Amino acid sequence: MSTEHLVGPAEVRQSYQRVSERVANAAIRSGRRPEDVLMVAVTKNASPDQIRTLVDLGHTDLGENRVQQLTQRAAQLEEYLSRRRSLGNAVEGEAHPVPERVRWHMIGHLQRNKVKQVVPVVDLIHGVDSLRLAEELHAFGARTDQVIDILMQVNVSGEVSKHGVAAPAAIHVAEQIDTMMHLRLRGIMCMAPFTENSDETRSVFSRAASVYHDIRSERIGGNDFTVLSMGMSNDFEIAIEEGANVIRIGRALFGEADPNDDN
Ligand SMILES: *Cc1c(COP(=O)(O)O)cnc(C)c1O
Repeated sequence: MSTEHLVGPAEVRQSYQRVSERVANAAIRSGRRPEDVLMVAVTKNASPDQIRTLVDLGHTDLGENRVQQLTQRAAQLEEYLSRRRSLGNAVEGEAHPVPERVRWHMIGHLQRNKVKQVVPVVDLIHGVDSLRLAEELHAFGARTDQVIDILMQVNVSGEVSKHGVAAPAAIHVAEQIDTMMHLRLRGIMCMAPFTENSDETRSVFSRAASVYHDIRSERIGGNDFTVLSMGMSNDFEIAIEEGANVIRIGRALFGEADPNDDN
C-alpha cells in the first residue's frame, strides 16, 4: 500500500459530494430516486485515512477485491469505529455520527479456498462466477448454519479475460443457485469492457439489465432478487441509466492508484 496520497480529506469530501450528485442526477434521469442507487466505495487503492474520512461522512458501504486487504481493513475500521463509539459518538462539532456499522462488499474474484476468511467479514459477495464457487459457499453456509448473500457475476461482453457466467447460461445457473438453501441470490453483477466507446459500454449494461429482468421474471431468487450491480468510475452514469441500483466507485472518490502499487 502506498502511504502518500495526493487526495486528502478535503478532496475526498468534495469528490464524495460531486459523485453523489452525479449519481442522484442519473437516478432521476432514469425515473428513480437518488436513494434507490447504492454507492459501494471501492477502497482497494485508498489509504486508511481516506476510508475514515468517508465513514466520518456517514458512508456505510465499502468494497474490496482482495481477501487479505479486505480482512485487514475491516478489522482496522472496526477498531476505529469502536474507539469513536466509546467517545460517546459525540465529538464536538462533528456533523455526522459515525455509522453503527459498515457493510463490506467482496467485489473481486473469490477463490474457493478463501471462502471461510471472507464470509464472516462481508455482507454481500458480488463475484460468484461459477457453480463450483456457489457450491463451496453453500457448503460453508451449511457448516456454519447461515445464509450467505451473493450476486452472480455474468460475463455479458464475452471477453475471455473476464470472470463470470456466460449470459446464455445465466438463467440456468441462477436456477441451480436458487436451490441452495444456504445461499440467498440477491441479483447479478457485471463489468463493462475497458473501452472509450460509450455505445459499447451502454450495450453491455443494457444486455446485463435484460439478463437481470429475465431472471426476475422467472421469479428465481424470489423477492430477494433485487440487485443489479454494475458501473464504476468511468461508466456509472451509463450503468444507472440502464438500470443499475448498485455501483462500485473507486478512483472517482479516492484518486488514481499509485503506479507503484500492484493493485
Ligand atoms: C476496482 C474495481 C471497481 C472500481 O473501479 P474504479 O474504476 O476505481 O471506480 C469496481 N468493481 C470492481 C470489481 C473492481 O475491481
